[in-house]
Amino acid sequence: MLAEEPVPPGAMGRLWRVRCDCGVEEAIRQRRLTEVSRPGLRRACARCEAVACPECGAPVLNKRRARCGSPACELIAYRRAATAHYARATSDPIKGPAIRAARKARAQRNWADLSKAERAEQYRRRAAREAANPEVVAKRRARANVHYAMHAEEIQSRRAARLDAMSREELRRWLDRGAAYQRAYQRRWRSEIQSDPEAHRRYLDLQAEYRRRLALARLMVQATQLKEMLDE
Ligand SMILES: [Zn+2]
Ligand SMILES: [Zn+2]
Repeated sequence: MLAEEPVPPGAMGRLWRVRCDCGVEEAIRQRRLTEVSRPGLRRACARCEAVACPECGAPVLNKRRARCGSPACELIAYRRAATAHYARATSDPIKGPAIRAARKARAQRNWADLSKAERAEQYRRRAAREAANPEVVAKRRARANVHYAMHAEEIQSRRAARLDAMSREELRRWLDRGAAYQRAYQRRWRSEIQSDPEAHRRYLDLQAEYRRRLALARLMVQATQLKEMLDE
């Protein structure tokens, strides 16, 4: 880097016109050239000093920045940080299951509040996401299969306990969801799920519980009607 001619001082101190080894000329403030301890110390032009954005590879001219600053890269970095934070929080053996259960309950409440059109939009967006990332879907499915194969009984008994604890209204919603799964299976998933034996087993276990609860619910209704008849 070659100091050539002093540029008339501006409001922020003296500027020097300097030429980088690459041939580019740039006006740089004096303290950027002399104060060794500053993180902004310059040894070459902005282009030559730039580091690649770890997300997109674009040159990052501001050395204090970790990324290029584009909204897309900020979103990717934010999502990665949020995912890591959630993984850390849920890896706690005591708080983890509670955090996951609260999240699931929140998602189910939100889902119950959506209109039909909003749900269709959510399905569409998820399908688009999954079509764009088949390897993510395959990885998630493989992970779920291994997990279920290892914990099937535990998962089923937890589900039974959760259903036992539900209010009548919550149980009705759960049964509606089971019926919706059944319809979706008949319409779209059958060949897809059957080609994945583990997913099919999960589905059959869920439906077995669904039918058991449905029969129970019907019995309860009949018992109530019978009691009313006898009372009259
Ligand atoms: Zn240069
Ligand atoms: Zn970037």
